[in-house]
Amino acid sequence: MGPEPETIVAHDDEFPAGAVVPPIFQTSLFTFPSYEELEATFAGETRRPIYSRGDNPTVQVFEAKLAALEVAEAARAFASGMAAISAAVLSNLRTGERMVCVRHCYPDAFRLFRTILPRFGIDVEFVDGRDADAVQRVLPGAQVLYLESPTSMVFETQDLARLAAAARAEGAISIADNSWASPIFQRPLQRGVDLVVHSASKYLGGHSDVVAGVVAGRRDLIERINQAEFPLLGCKLSPFEGWLLVRGLRTLPLRMRRHHESGLLIAERLAGHPRIRRVHHPLRDPVGSSGGALEGASGLFSFELDGDKDAVRRFCNALELFKLGVSWGGHESLAFPAAAGLVQAGAHNPLAFFGVAPETIRLHIGLEDPEDLWSDLTRALEA
Ligand SMILES: *Cc1c(COP(=O)(O)O)cnc(C)c1O
Repeated sequence: MGPEPETIVAHDDEFPAGAVVPPIFQTSLFTFPSYEELEATFAGETRRPIYSRGDNPTVQVFEAKLAALEVAEAARAFASGMAAISAAVLSNLRTGERMVCVRHCYPDAFRLFRTILPRFGIDVEFVDGRDADAVQRVLPGAQVLYLESPTSMVFETQDLARLAAAARAEGAISIADNSWASPIFQRPLQRGVDLVVHSASKYLGGHSDVVAGVVAGRRDLIERINQAEFPLLGCKLSPFEGWLLVRGLRTLPLRMRRHHESGLLIAERLAGHPRIRRVHHPLRDPVGSSGGALEGASGLFSFELDGDKDAVRRFCNALELFKLGVSWGGHESLAFPAAAGLVQAGAHNPLAFFGVAPETIRLHIGLEDPEDLWSDLTRALEA
């Protein structure tokens, strides 16, 4: 066993001049002292930064920390979670191949799978990830199994160990989006999943000031991405955002514990409130089972209001501490009504496709005082 997360995020190898924080290597290129060193680098005999569309030392500090947290052999950072998802998926699929994906996956991942993958003749089948037998039935012939546990908007969990083993038995690569739990509460690679993807814009950054992504997992799979999708599609992370992510990770274990406590407290109270029909929280889900993979909960869950769209509108407009918005994982509490997502134009609306109830409201419980948040919610529910 390696060090615990609290130690990983606080500890660094030496930086120049004994600095405890990494320098921001704000440089596009790195020069070579000699022809010999240039040639050895291009021949792949030595690895050192060449150009910041490839390796950048500040970003590498983030990649190494994230790899340690996920107990991964390697990690590669990207300019967004979607870039990380695109690279993970594209690097494991060829023309005419097939992917199985859990329903209620992240909306833009859904759009990628429905709009871009079909251009390459890649067929994606969506399945209820809570039902491991159903997943196993559609797996034969698929090259990739795409998981997200818990899922977006309704937070359905999957038994990652069982599904990863089923994928392996069929010769398919398993990929899991771990943005919700973060490596503090779930480490899919230790359950046999091949690749983990993150939107680092959420909990990893933690301060709502970065858009970034990361893929972690087996060295051969990351190396394949390093040779093609990463440099050639060009969605690299900036050194400053890499630096902000290292800073954000310092408090990840502390923040996640707080999100867990406040989120569960408010989810329990909402479940007992007369204006609430149902709470979708992965630790309260009677059907889904993470198979013990989830060691805690983040601050993101949803509930169904007992009322119509007008009640949803009145509730949202009455909130004061909770701001209305997408994204999550920062210090601040947020509410996002599914009804607004349902009216979004486009042929591929995931909320409509997966049948999310229009009374569903997603909450992100931030780091504020939970009693202040509860007062805001109860007052808005009375509206
Ligand atoms: C936000 C999000 C993404 C996409 O990440 P970006 O950084 O916005 O590109 C992927 N998966 C989940 C679960 C997300 O919430």
